[in-house]
Amino acid sequence: MHQANEKDKFAAQREAMVLTQLKSRDITNSAVLNAMAEILREKFIPAEYFDEAYYDGPLSIGSGQTISQPYIVALMTQELKVDKNCQVLEIGTGSGYQTAILAKLAKEVYTIERIENLSATAQKTLGDLNILNVRFHIGDGTCGWPEVRQFDRIIITAATPQLPEPLAEQLKIGGLAVLPLGGEYTQELVTIEKTSSGLKSKFVCGCRFVRLIGKFGYTE
Ligand code: SAM
Repeated sequence: MHQANEKDKFAAQREAMVLTQLKSRDITNSAVLNAMAEILREKFIPAEYFDEAYYDGPLSIGSGQTISQPYIVALMTQELKVDKNCQVLEIGTGSGYQTAILAKLAKEVYTIERIENLSATAQKTLGDLNILNVRFHIGDGTCGWPEVRQFDRIIITAATPQLPEPLAEQLKIGGLAVLPLGGEYTQELVTIEKTSSGLKSKFVCGCRFVRLIGKFGYTE
């Protein structure tokens, strides 16, 4: 009985999140809305924040890191224009929540996290949810995926002073990247399209993320 009530509580909170935090703002892509309605955000939240699983903001996931606000996850996914033909590279696995949303929409997701225990927890969560089209790597994502490979889409979920050069190289011509670009405290969310004549960026909105730490990001 208690379990059934918990399930109902989260289902109602998830429905309300989609309505009041996403649809009432500017999330209009039905595939993104469906993925956000389907993925159980409570599975990615540490036990002490369980009751805030659908809070309209970021939450701590330990190791000084955060799971992003639901709206930002949806917005970045919508801006990335992902479909079932896409191979996506994600830098900053974190809790794996954004990874799970992307995995619903893409052919495959390749995700890199520098903090081992966060990646291990995310791998277990996605495994438990039977999300199988994801490859995980632990290391410095600013150096790119550690095999020669190019991606249709790249998403960086931590603040970076630039699109790291190895990532620009691993983006296909015609591909799109979404990232929080700028200083350590505030950034601009931008999309970058790689064309045959160079990189074209577009401003989306102001934002605030934890730092991307690595060879082509910030120093620790
Ligand atoms: N999207 C994630 C989620 O849904 O939980 C939240 C990501 S969190 C805002 C940013 C993550 O980027 C952190 O887990 C952090 O450890 C990771 N990170 C920072 N620098 C990194 C790097 N160079 N390579 C890989 N991951 C990095």
